Amino acid sequence: MQRFETARDAALSLRPDVPVYCFRPEVLKADARRFMEMFPGKTAYAVKTNGETMVLKTLSEAGVTAFDVASPAEFEAVRSVAPEAEMLYMHPVKAQSDIRLALETYGIRTIAIDHEDEVTKLARVVQALDIDPGTIAVFVRIQTKGSAAYELSKKFGAGPAHAVELLQRLHRNGYRVGICFHVGSQISDPDTYERALRTADWVRNRAAVPLAGLDVGGGFPAEYGHDPNRKAPEMPSLGQLMSRLRGDIVEWGFGDMPLVAEPGRVICAHAFSLIVRVLLRKGRRIYINDGIWSSLSDSWTGKITLPARFIPDPAIRSRNGDRSKIVPFKVCGATCDSVDILSRPFWLPETVDTGDWIEIGHIGAYSLALRSRFNGFYPDTFVEVSRPFDEGTQPESFASLETMA
Ligand SMILES: *Cc1c(COP(=O)(O)O)cnc(C)c1O
Repeated sequence: MQRFETARDAALSLRPDVPVYCFRPEVLKADARRFMEMFPGKTAYAVKTNGETMVLKTLSEAGVTAFDVASPAEFEAVRSVAPEAEMLYMHPVKAQSDIRLALETYGIRTIAIDHEDEVTKLARVVQALDIDPGTIAVFVRIQTKGSAAYELSKKFGAGPAHAVELLQRLHRNGYRVGICFHVGSQISDPDTYERALRTADWVRNRAAVPLAGLDVGGGFPAEYGHDPNRKAPEMPSLGQLMSRLRGDIVEWGFGDMPLVAEPGRVICAHAFSLIVRVLLRKGRRIYINDGIWSSLSDSWTGKITLPARFIPDPAIRSRNGDRSKIVPFKVCGATCDSVDILSRPFWLPETVDTGDWIEIGHIGAYSLALRSRFNGFYPDTFVEVSRPFDEGTQPESFASLETMA
């Protein structure tokens, strides 16, 4: 992989017509280590956030020894770069053949469930493979309520009474049992974890079985940019959130049991930026070489404003407008699809023109993981960049991917 100090250096040297991901391994390592230092338990990186080999390998080098996986492809991705790493199979709804693969081929011994039919599937595999259930830790996923940019509690999780039954049944069948939850992604309210802990406490007391652990899931927010024309959202810092969570864990009596967290976004968001090129400027509209079917699909679901840096093409000698004036541009994506238009503008210097580049920061989570091959556009070019996106000159622009105002 080619190395550059900044994305600007990469853009001006390569003059790329395709989107280029700028990978910052040192940022990834630092963010992973920061999380592991703050969290008082096991850190299992959620592979779905960004499962690129370079990411898994770098995390393994940074000392991450556990990974939250959900599919055969994720088992293999982890195994191939970190053969010794522990895998936690935390998807609550699984194909029986995948459970078998997990237990038999990959030696996975930690698994999540939220329904009795999943217990049945697991029991069939355990019996067929003649595994001692006492070697398996089954985490019952409980439903949570909260405010995250992405809510998952409507899809997964057992209600408290149901969770109690599941824990008792699993315990009777000889498994080790734990409780897990996942409050959704990019949480903004520090009470979110406490509400989940309160439910976990209720379930534990009713179930009255020995617990092998508590898994608090993901949801830890990454810092992004914000639209300067609006009030900055009040977001707790990771440090604040974590000290609150540590306190709540102790207060609710979970302080002396093995703890697990499954962070994704907070670990890899800052490790990548993306260089896109302006293929055409038409008035206050720009056409870029990426879009909702590639790296910017967060525009459908997210509420995230990314910082962006203007990289003017020095070959453009004459420009109209005022470089210091930041104005909104409607952004059209690369595909021949009329929905491939971002629903919120990018704010860029008035002088932006056909041929310029834009570096979009903090795009490491849920962007390249969600790329499709639609219309034949599949960004897959990577360079390594050493300087963190936030270092040096302030990014003057921003790319708002917010749809749900
Ligand atoms: C997606 C997911 C995560 C990671 O969530 P982040 O918000 O990216 O930290 C963790 N656990 C489970 C079960 C998930 O589905």
